[in-house]
Amino acid sequence: MAGFLGWLVVNLVVLLICFIAYSSQIFVIWPWYGREISVQLVTLLVPFNCLVGMLLWNYFLCVTTDPGHPPDNWRPDTNAEGYEVKKLTGGPRFCRYCERPKPPRTHHCRQCGRCVLRMDHHCPWINNCVGHFNHGHFIRFLFYVDLACSYHLAMVTLRVYSSLGARYWDEPETVELVLIILNYVACVPVLMAVGAFSLYHFNALKNNTTTIEGWEKDKAATMVRRGKIREIKFPYNIGRRKNIESILGKNAWLWCWPTVTPGSGLKYELTADDDGNIVSEEWPPRDPAEVYHEDPNHEFILPDSPWTYENGSVNPELQPSNSTSSPRRRKVTPDGTSSLPPYHPDYRPPEQDESSDDDYGYTDPSRVKVRRGSEGYEVRPAQREDMLARYLLEIGETPQRYHRYIPQPESEDSDEDVPLGQQHS
Ligand SMILES: [Zn+2]
Ligand SMILES: [Zn+2]
Repeated sequence: MAGFLGWLVVNLVVLLICFIAYSSQIFVIWPWYGREISVQLVTLLVPFNCLVGMLLWNYFLCVTTDPGHPPDNWRPDTNAEGYEVKKLTGGPRFCRYCERPKPPRTHHCRQCGRCVLRMDHHCPWINNCVGHFNHGHFIRFLFYVDLACSYHLAMVTLRVYSSLGARYWDEPETVELVLIILNYVACVPVLMAVGAFSLYHFNALKNNTTTIEGWEKDKAATMVRRGKIREIKFPYNIGRRKNIESILGKNAWLWCWPTVTPGSGLKYELTADDDGNIVSEEWPPRDPAEVYHEDPNHEFILPDSPWTYENGSVNPELQPSNSTSSPRRRKVTPDGTSSLPPYHPDYRPPEQDESSDDDYGYTDPSRVKVRRGSEGYEVRPAQREDMLARYLLEIGETPQRYHRYIPQPESEDSDEDVPLGQQHS
């Protein structure tokens, strides 16, 4: 389904290109020149059709050229300094989806389901990834869209301009007028969107930066600003001219002509410092706080609860103020999982009846119960006998010396109801 949708988009793009390119010529320019072939007409339309031809050719190449994938037997060259070996972890880059080592600048595309060499981005408009081998075609495609759209708008605008102060027979017919409007509606948004997009990509080409590396640069700049890492040099920027040559080819005369991208896509020239030494900075620079998680030998352990860190400690800022006074808070089962919700998948409810241990049971008087939020007052169950015994001991009496006074029930012949005066009489 995704494949079908991708091809549908490609066909719609071709339809849009053809509509803008040919409806303008057939329904606007041809009638304007009196439906006759003339030198002026040919002079106007031949350059336009060349631009459209280059646009369509580069579009075709973008769609059909494989952006490049790491060979099955590719292994990082651990001897080459600064290329594949990651300084920090000492291991090569690895794709956990393909379960294979990844060359530098390669990224895994989830839409394509494989690793793409020097991946820039996955482009739905070409139903393909933009990578090492079709990046040049993509840049040229954007370039020709900009040129052809500008030429088209200039041409159509000239036609409109010519009718403004025109004699009556120069005014456009209804069909022509509708087509002029439709051509503007189709072409202006395309030029604006692709134009802005091209500016970004031409600038990235100048700096030898892919879209993904652009994000990495932004992230690195943020980390530098926050003082997490020192300033780091982007290792693939080898000078403006060489940057462009690395994608569009060595020969500047052929930059606008479709050529095969030089290089294998597995290794890239690295920037050198002022003394000519290769700068083998690790790229992308990593957040020191995240390094722990990226250690390939480190096994990730799910925390006991969302409120604890991976190592099991509680984030002090998230700890509730009364948690230290409550014995139930610190209950951890033998397998190390918290007995409080939300429950960890490893959590097993205890076999013993915890219900007898609840806050209302009072079955074990020796057990100290602390009510949350009671600010230090201890609510302890106590029995009158114990209290009396303790009191007697305190005052130096023998506890069993006195009998307890137990009130007897009233007898039937009690004289309680007899008025006082009658009792003494
Ligand atoms: Zn992959
Ligand atoms: Zn892709």
